[in-house]
Amino acid sequence: MQLQPSSTFGKLVYLLRRIHIRPIHIIIPISFAVLAATFEGVGMGLLVPILNGFLKQSFSFVTDTPVLGDIMQMLPPAVLANDRLLFAVLLGSFICIYILKSLLRLLSVISMSYFSERTIHHLRKELFARYLSFGKLFFDTSNIGHHGVVLLEFSRKALQPLIGIDKFINSLFALSAYLVVMLLISWQLTIIAIPPFLLLHILVKTVVVRLRNLSHITTERGSALNKKSIEILSTMPLVKAYCTQRLEQQHYTQISDQKARLDFRGNILLSFIQPIQETVMILVVATIFGGALFIFGRSQIASAPALIVYFYVVVNATSKFGMVSGFRGVMAHTAGPLDAVLTVFDDTGKFFVRGGSTPFSGMTTGIACRDLSFSYNERMVLKNLSFTIDKGKMTAIVGPSGAGKSTLIHLLMRYYDCPPQSIFIDGQDIRSFTLESYLAHVAIVSQETLLLHDSLRNNILYGLEDVTDEALQEVLRRARLSEFIERLPQGIATLIGDRGVKLSGGEKQRVAIARALLRGAEILILDEATSSLDSGTEKLIQEAIDEAITGRTAIVIAHRLSTIKHADKIIVLKDGQSVEEGTLEELLDRKELFHRLWEEQKF
Ligand code: ATP
Repeated sequence: MQLQPSSTFGKLVYLLRRIHIRPIHIIIPISFAVLAATFEGVGMGLLVPILNGFLKQSFSFVTDTPVLGDIMQMLPPAVLANDRLLFAVLLGSFICIYILKSLLRLLSVISMSYFSERTIHHLRKELFARYLSFGKLFFDTSNIGHHGVVLLEFSRKALQPLIGIDKFINSLFALSAYLVVMLLISWQLTIIAIPPFLLLHILVKTVVVRLRNLSHITTERGSALNKKSIEILSTMPLVKAYCTQRLEQQHYTQISDQKARLDFRGNILLSFIQPIQETVMILVVATIFGGALFIFGRSQIASAPALIVYFYVVVNATSKFGMVSGFRGVMAHTAGPLDAVLTVFDDTGKFFVRGGSTPFSGMTTGIACRDLSFSYNERMVLKNLSFTIDKGKMTAIVGPSGAGKSTLIHLLMRYYDCPPQSIFIDGQDIRSFTLESYLAHVAIVSQETLLLHDSLRNNILYGLEDVTDEALQEVLRRARLSEFIERLPQGIATLIGDRGVKLSGGEKQRVAIARALLRGAEILILDEATSSLDSGTEKLIQEAIDEAITGRTAIVIAHRLSTIKHADKIIVLKDGQSVEEGTLEELLDRKELFHRLWEEQKF
């Protein structure tokens, strides 16, 4: 893992490199911004001879002016000899330069906007890809609300300095051009003007430090607000059942209020920059006035048109300087979201489950667990577990609640990574197979069927391509879904609501069975598939399941032991350890834990 830089600028550059944005992409808008600034400086410089000639009522002196004189010498002698034409050339050039400057600035803004929006899109895309690559354990230990806000809001905020970088570069170069014009007009006055600029710098820096500190806590509150929104909106029945609307409203209001206050403080701090800049500008002008009086004397000031231009340049330079200093405010404001985004790119705590390089083409003998131990955050839930699951047979895993049954299934599903050399398929470590090829042979019907806010059809066909209509109809029949779908006014095109709220528990499970059947997987995992169903629906689903597992390797977890009567092998887990193993008869004869559990459920 590459070490991340500590400065906000360094972090931003690091982030751009992580998402493969090459500096070359930003060169076009920046070049336009630099050119616009150069033209702005040149235009500003042209004001001095124009104003000078205007007051002197003669422009003949321009041919003797350094740099400008050399350019003017290129004009035909007839123009040089005519004062009015010289004025027209100067004024025309000034207008052209300003139009050109505005055009270049526009091009810079457009190209920058394109570049920044593409970069934000790229960042979002990369962030999403990162989230898809994290192991289930990462999501078990973090909050979806936070991830949502990272993807939608922080991705944009993190790149905020980039979005304004053309303005910054333009201001920086314009400021340099102004400095040159100022030095050309009077280097003494320019030296006098520098201390107030330094004061502006220090004041802005104070604001920036506060903004940076505030940015982290504002980011944290923003994330908390989104967490709360998602959490409550997705658990509405819980809120209704326990009548916690008022309590939740209070929580939400509290977080929203804190966020609003922090945002307000941030905005106030940001808006301080402008008045500071304006106050300092007055200070600069007053200092220059004083300096001019001291250096040139009262009589000379009045007759020095260059000083008028000088003041004009100084006023502009102060605003550009404010922009340059203010940019640090933008950088500081970004610190929190940027850190949140960079955390996603950090590999620590992401619990990746990486596949191997061997393609899995199918099972020949079976699955074996050898000394399998697994822990969640130091808490060991599976301890030295060893057993085998034969191909084509039904193996049931039973045991008291919390024994580790689902954890074992999650390891077989590769949601969590198992220790090396602990789970084998046909004698080969499960970790050596590519994830895609292995999971193509495994299907799960779990306690909780995960459904998308989409049509029934798309939910059943999720992740599958090229499924023929005949195959779909056959699977719907086998999953006992045909009749139900026929009764729906929109049939299989019916939208099933957020997380399938419009389906009953039994219907959801039949959708899961249909998915598993369509996948044609040879290893079928059933995790409490018939839990919490009425006996009629259970019978219906059990029939579908019995049909589905025929000829496949089935791993079944069941609390209701009657459903695993026909299992070829039953493995009894207790506290993460395998305590018994055998057929139903063998286990009942043994009269130990399984027998006790069986007796408890008899009636
Ligand atoms: P049940 O029959 O009640 O579903 P189970 O046998 O399937 O239970 P598991 O869900 O595997 O048990 O849980 C085993 C232990 O691991 C439990 O004590 C549980 O609290 C803990 N556990 C499960 N999932 C996590 C997790 N993501 N993080 C931390 N601990 C977990």
